Amino acid sequence: TTPIVAVVGRPNVGKSTLFNRLTKSKMALVDDLPGVTRDRLYGRVESYEKPFTLIDTGGFDPPADQAFADEVHAQIKLAMEEADLILFLTDGKYGLSPLDSHVADMLRRSHKPVIACVNKIDSPEKEDAASEFYALGITPLHFISSAHGYGIWDMMQDVMAAL
Ligand code: GDP
Ligand code: MG
Repeated sequence: TTPIVAVVGRPNVGKSTLFNRLTKSKMALVDDLPGVTRDRLYGRVESYEKPFTLIDTGGFDPPADQAFADEVHAQIKLAMEEADLILFLTDGKYGLSPLDSHVADMLRRSHKPVIACVNKIDSPEKEDAASEFYALGITPLHFISSAHGYGIWDMMQDVMAAL
């Protein structure tokens, strides 16, 4: 059977953008508004040595911060059950958020392999500013740009090695 990789992280970190890049589709909705992905999306990734199924975990527009947290919580629990590998995305432009630390705690308690990625690092010189993400305590930690492709190849080497 095909391995399953799930992309998790709080709203607006770029999960759908990464999903679209890897599946080469416009299927996942991308928007400037947080939480635009209404549901989970499944795509096939076939451009690397091992094909796999990719899940874009979404969320809907919750009214308050707590609802955001609940939605992220539910999506991550589902991903932890379903996936063979988890790609944990954070937003290097925004910086480290308490919700990122909460997600990291949840992932640490799962026994699934996790690859952490600081997204929106659109050029190498932006990596220094994002070093605060090492505090999440999850390795490997990759600096990537889902929008422009920076760091994706390196990240995919780790994904391939883990599948
Ligand atoms: P999601 O809520 O986690 O699925 O996030 P989206 O994929 O919808 O992206 C949220 C916003 O971040 C959109 O405005 C994207 O264009 C932007 N974004 C995503 N990836 C990158 C990136 O690598 N660099 C920059 N600068 N912006 C990005
Ligand atoms: Mg999305």
